[in-house]
Amino acid sequence: MRLHDIAVVGGGAAGAMAAIRAGQSGKDIILIERNRDIGRKILHTGKGRCNVTNIADIDTFIERFGKQGRFLRSAFFIFCNRDLIHFFEAKGLGMNIERQGRVFPSTNKASSVVRVLKEYLSDNKVEVLYNARLSSLGRRDGFFQLNIKGCDKIYAKRVVMALGGASYRATGSSGDGFRIAESLGHTVVPLKPALVPLKIKEPWVKQLQGLSLENVRISFKYGSKRVTSDIGEFIFTHFGISGPLVLDLSGAIVSLMRDHKEIPLFVDLKPGLEPKQIERRLLNEFGAKKTSKIKNVMKGLLPQKLIPIFIHISGLTPEKEVNQVTREERDAIKNLLKAFPLTATGSLPIEEAMVTGGGISTKEIDPRTMESKIVPGLYFAGEMINGCASSGGYNLQQAFSTGYLAGEKAANA
Ligand SMILES: Cc1cc2nc3c(=O)[nH]c(=O)nc-3n(C[C@H](O)[C@H](O)[C@H](O)COP(=O)(O)OP(=O)(O)OC[C@H]3O[C@@H](n4cnc5c(N)ncnc54)[C@H](O)[C@@H]3O)c2cc1C
Repeated sequence: MRLHDIAVVGGGAAGAMAAIRAGQSGKDIILIERNRDIGRKILHTGKGRCNVTNIADIDTFIERFGKQGRFLRSAFFIFCNRDLIHFFEAKGLGMNIERQGRVFPSTNKASSVVRVLKEYLSDNKVEVLYNARLSSLGRRDGFFQLNIKGCDKIYAKRVVMALGGASYRATGSSGDGFRIAESLGHTVVPLKPALVPLKIKEPWVKQLQGLSLENVRISFKYGSKRVTSDIGEFIFTHFGISGPLVLDLSGAIVSLMRDHKEIPLFVDLKPGLEPKQIERRLLNEFGAKKTSKIKNVMKGLLPQKLIPIFIHISGLTPEKEVNQVTREERDAIKNLLKAFPLTATGSLPIEEAMVTGGGISTKEIDPRTMESKIVPGLYFAGEMINGCASSGGYNLQQAFSTGYLAGEKAANA
């Protein structure tokens, strides 16, 4: 029987970092990955460019994780965004800062991030066992026994579980971690898709497929509260809407959908203009082009593809000359520019979500160490822990930070 000091399960961002950090202690570490390589999900991140982290301060990181943010404070302190950037730079991989503080490798390739992780694993003599899928985890003679189909049993004094969530299953994260943790007595907060495209009721969205709206804002009502997004971009798809703005709001909308079949959304197509400014602009445009048809004048205000649908919803006739447009009709245009309606009826399934909402309850994990409060010697890291953030590099930083903390504490326990 070969006994390892620490077995880390899952070779994603969290597991790789946990193994590297634990390996720096000189202990005997094994990293167990079901795929034939590590970091398969990382290769998909940031559209293949990997938005590694964000330059925001720690308070912003905590805020982005909502109710679960406080749980992550120690992890973000012990290994913050600057530490992560330095970690990559020390291996010659520079980092670039882009809009909204998003940090990307200077190569613009997610594969560079995986390469650096592999270099560190090798430097720190971490043994990596590929094509090894953990099926169950038990205790024997005071040690953990890791049962892997087709392999000899593996024994370890401590185990870090970093098996990811339940989305993008083809990358390896098919929810095994939740089943195994539950079998050990852990509670899994119900899983739900987060950062996920939304289905839209209005049939005409199909006609707009591929149209991207930039510099817009989306809002919806949440009880008596109105939730309003940042100014950003979204895209129409054959089933509804996707893109950064939609993904970031999707978690809250999916939660609301537990009690409501439909959620009315409103798109502010001109967030930089007050209604009065729009009114003036319409008067100017209509005054300058008196005999032009409304469908032609709208070209100055909206993308061509959207115009027929916009005019249809506003109740106007596309062929109407603008000098015939009444004040009420002008108001209808103005109101529609500020609150273009869409009705969310659902989301794509969790498999197609960028991140899994829900996961191992943080009440059962010590935030200072990532150790289970239920099974001593068992640690958690990454997406399998309940709580996720909006897009922008926050989720990968969570994986790296919790992985680092779990690896360090498991090695020094
Ligand atoms: C399309 C897409 C784009 C994204 N873009 C970004 C981005 O740009 N920035 C950002 O911050 N976040 C992004 N995310 C989210 C980010 O990828 C995750 O938050 C992060 O990868 C989670 O890391 P993890 O190590 O916890 O899990 P994972 O990366 O899922 O790693 C889990 C690992 O465990 C292995 N595993 C699972 N079960 C077993 C088992 N039974 N036995 C052995 N091994 C097992 C898996 O094969 C996998 O390698 C994106 C996600 C997606 C899907």
